[in-house]
Parts: sequence; structure tokens; C-alpha cells
Amino acid sequence: MTKPSPISPTIPLDQDGIHHGFLKLPYSRDDSAWGAVMIPITVVRNGNGPTALLTGGNHGDEYEGLVSLFKLAESLSAGEITGRVIILPAMNYPAFRSASRTSPIDAGNMNRSFPGKPDGTVTQKIADYIFRYLVPEADIVLDIHSGGKTLDFIPFAAAHVLPDKEQEARCVAAMKAFGAPYSMMMLELDAVGMFDTVVEEAGKTFVTTELGGGGSTTAERIAIADRGVRNILIHAGILKGEIEPSPTGTTMLDMPDDRCFVASEASGLYEPCVDLGDMVKEGDLIARIYDVERTGTPPREYYAPREGIVSCRHFQGLIKTGDCLIVIAEVL
Ligand SMILES: [Zn+2]
Repeated sequence: MTKPSPISPTIPLDQDGIHHGFLKLPYSRDDSAWGAVMIPITVVRNGNGPTALLTGGNHGDEYEGLVSLFKLAESLSAGEITGRVIILPAMNYPAFRSASRTSPIDAGNMNRSFPGKPDGTVTQKIADYIFRYLVPEADIVLDIHSGGKTLDFIPFAAAHVLPDKEQEARCVAAMKAFGAPYSMMMLELDAVGMFDTVVEEAGKTFVTTELGGGGSTTAERIAIADRGVRNILIHAGILKGEIEPSPTGTTMLDMPDDRCFVASEASGLYEPCVDLGDMVKEGDLIARIYDVERTGTPPREYYAPREGIVSCRHFQGLIKTGDCLIVIAEVL
């Protein structure tokens, strides 16, 4: 028998109209003896219809989803929709408030904490609540990521290859409806504990994104997120209107195997030799890494292990052994 969640919503999740409130998680600590973590949530409902669960801040330093969903929560009206939209802009709220990928409370990486535990750490408790109480309510789930402080991506919506081909087709159709400049069939190096994995295993239509990164955002990337969120709600039959495609169309990408990922095998000063969106051939020089301790040492050079488009790169000027240096995806 699974324990009940310690989290309680301060608003009804199933009533018509707009309700802004919190998921309240008791958390006793030095600066607040009987305190709680208050995770903002908005539920907009208008009669019977499909439910969309829109999530951001799964990682606390990925700002496209955070901005777009805080904005949507303030602007969406019940009269515009049929059904229900559950907006959770900052899933890992403590991480969001510390501008970090993981939680400052328990070092919890939300996207490695699913399905979560009702009697676990703060991050595990939040994951458990989302998985057991919100995901079952949803017909479609959109989780908006970007690269955070350490990575930067070309803007893409993504779906995964799934064992159930009918479900995969639903997810691919929703990914294309999002209307990002790129649409990626994404390979995960380690899918254990991911929100994506548990939502897909629950049979839901699921779309994720990588819309930028670097621990900040841009007007262009926010516009892509805003348009994508709206398109997903129209695609789900919740919002009226026409799906607005990307002005540049969407380029289909694939990550067929782990040769797409290049990890750094040195620590040092990073010189990118290609930029995001560049096309590379196998063997092209993609980066140099310099010894930080002395001048006059030849840099370590990295070459493209495959042909494709530079879809992700290490963002910071310094790099460590094991960091993801570059991701090269195949253009379909
Ligand atoms: Zn993320």
C-alpha cells in the first residue's frame, strides 16, 4: 500500500474557472520551523474536455518554459478553452529559486527522481505527487526544457522512439504541432528516473523540448515557447484557433545512436570550432581544449564522429573531463 502524498493543493484541481495557488509541501527547517515549500500552480477549466499538463522548471535554470508558463498562467482565460489546463511552471521550485539545475535542499535532480517517493527527499516527494496525482489526470503532457547554465541547444521539440507505435505516432504528431524550428527523435543516454519515461510508460501523449540554454533566454526563444504551448493546446482540442507553424518550417532530426554525443576527455579552456546549427562532416574539427596551467602546449582537438547538425554544445568557457562537449544529430 503506497503512502499518501504529504503535498496538498491549496486550490481545487477540478472546478471551472481559473484558480491560482500552490502545491504545499510541509518542510520543517532552520528558518521556518513549521514551514512549507509552496510550488505555484494554476488550473484553468471550462467544462468537460481533454486535460493538458504543462510543466517547466523541471530543471531550475531553464528559463524558456518558466517564462512562457508564468506568462500563460497570467493570460489564459477559462472562456478561451474547452477542458482543462494544469500549469506548473516550476516543478523543482527550490531549484528555480536558487537558479540552479538541482535542488539546494537535497541536491535532487527532478528529472532523475521519478517516479518519486511520498516519504523520500523534498525532490522525491514533489516527483511522486506530480506522477501519482497530476499525470493520471492528463491526456497530453508538455515538459519544456532547455540547456541550463552548462549547455545550449538549437530550439527543438522532441519525441522518443516507443515500443507502442500508436502512442509514438501520437507523440510525434504533437511534437510537430508544437512547431519548433527543429523536431527531434531524441535518444536518452540514461532514461531511468526521467519524467519523460514515467509519463510515456503511463501511455500519455508526451512532448519535451530543448529550446536554448546558457542559464538565460532570448526574445526569440520565448516566442518559440509561447507559440509551441499555444499550438499544443490547439492540437489537443483545448484551445480554439489555427496551429501556427514555425516561420522557417521544422527540420526533422534524429539521434540514431550514441555516436551523436561527444564527451570531453580533458579539462581546460574550451574553443568551439563550430556553432549551433552548423552542418559538419565526419572528421571535421569541432573543438580545441587548451591546458589552463601553461602556454605553449598544443590543445587537445576534437573531431566530428559523424555527419550532421550541431544541435547542442557545452556553453561555458571552461570544460571538465566528462562534460558533454557537443551533440551532432542527423538531418532527415
Ligand atoms: Zn532540463
